[in-house]
Amino acid sequence: MQWNPNQTISEYREQLLEKKFSAHDAIQALYDYIEQRDQTVHAFLYTTKAQALADAKQIDTRIQEGKDIGILGGVPIAIKDNMLIQGTPTTAGSRILESYVATYDATVIKKLKEAGAIIVGKTNLDEFAMGSSTETSAFGPTKNPYDETKVPGGSSGGSASAVAAGMALGALGSDTGGSIRQPSALCGVVGLKPTYGAVSRYGIIALASSLDQVGPFARSVADAARLLQAIAGKDSYDATSSEYDTSKLLAFDTKKARKTVIGIPKEFIEGKGMSVEVKEGIEKALDRFKKAGYQIKSVSLPHVSYAVATYYIVLPAEASANLGRYDGMRYSALPHVNRSSLQEVYNKTRGIGFGDEVRRRILLGMFVLSSGYYDAYYTKAQKMRRLIQQDFYHAFKEVDIIFSPTSPSTAFTLGEKTQDPLAMYLEDMYTIPVNLAGLPAISIPVEKEYSKEHLPTGFQLIGKPWGEYDILNVGNDYEINLRNR
Ligand code: GLN
Repeated sequence: MQWNPNQTISEYREQLLEKKFSAHDAIQALYDYIEQRDQTVHAFLYTTKAQALADAKQIDTRIQEGKDIGILGGVPIAIKDNMLIQGTPTTAGSRILESYVATYDATVIKKLKEAGAIIVGKTNLDEFAMGSSTETSAFGPTKNPYDETKVPGGSSGGSASAVAAGMALGALGSDTGGSIRQPSALCGVVGLKPTYGAVSRYGIIALASSLDQVGPFARSVADAARLLQAIAGKDSYDATSSEYDTSKLLAFDTKKARKTVIGIPKEFIEGKGMSVEVKEGIEKALDRFKKAGYQIKSVSLPHVSYAVATYYIVLPAEASANLGRYDGMRYSALPHVNRSSLQEVYNKTRGIGFGDEVRRRILLGMFVLSSGYYDAYYTKAQKMRRLIQQDFYHAFKEVDIIFSPTSPSTAFTLGEKTQDPLAMYLEDMYTIPVNLAGLPAISIPVEKEYSKEHLPTGFQLIGKPWGEYDILNVGNDYEINLRNR
């Protein structure tokens, strides 16, 4: 059997349940494909072939016995390497966790397993999810499958490129400022960041706890909805998680979708920094919505231009606290350094174990939290965060969902922005405000087909809190009815 890298979860499941192939054969064929394709893409840091084949066998037995296989039964899923899977290495893309092996399953992993999913491996990421290109990974960059001289975006670049290249039918990523949506846009796949609190963060290596959310990558909107259905809901191990009725997430309704009022923030559309390709892409998508009868309204988010600055105070502050626990002894031991005192051991191992971007953010975070600067930076940023959130709430009095570009440019060349942190930070200008406000948002490819000559672009639909259904329903209409199929 040959692996088909162009299928959706729904298509694969249909054939599996019709017994056109066995899960075991499919997963074996998938690994044959990965072994060849990932030599150049480098989406995976680690694969879990033996376990995956054993899991596939169990799914086959259930199918033979006529038992339910779960909503993701037999479906190969890739996992960003900042989520814990018991007995499996988890590095967060960092030297400091190079030899760490997780001792328990993250809640999302437990839920995926309960839904019958088959975990294929751990995907590459920017170190501790800090970055927009997957180039800050301590284990080398991932390439964009459409053009291997380009980045896949980040920080969940491995998950995005695995799904784009068909090395998994879905993947999980984490999104603190855009790390699911921006790589989705650059790799031409669907990526969803749920409402803050929709998905448990238990067992996810924390970056900035008030912003982090786990979400799916998929090859279609319906697949993304199905993955969200599997992972969302209250978890007693994460006090910020909430009850979530996901039973109707897949009940798509075109008529209902077309009654949606779409808001266009004038600050995003008139603002500088958008490339020609992105501008053309979003104009095309918007035109398709208009022609289908969607009501489009201009809205204003007056404080949104402060979002990136606000984020780069809030995030380093929280990250510097979260990363305090990595001392090079707990979690995994780094090679012993010459030491005269405990403090020196910490300083040296952290100096060796963390890369430049991580060190930069720890220093920034310590600074904005230090006495004398706390009020001037941290408190001010918190106030600005509230104003940005209120901007969205005001806009949502007039419109149901908000439309914007996902990222300001298409995939850029490897190395192009590594020496310019500010240029890298601006990659997330359209996605960061959404995390600061805790809202759900999805990135959808403008077109169905892309190529090396015509790189992917995406648009973003932002919903009200717990409005995942609205953005999925409209996104599904676009994908099924409005986009050239
Ligand atoms: N690129 C952003 C950053 O570097 C977002 C990261 C993320 O969402 N994990 O912080």
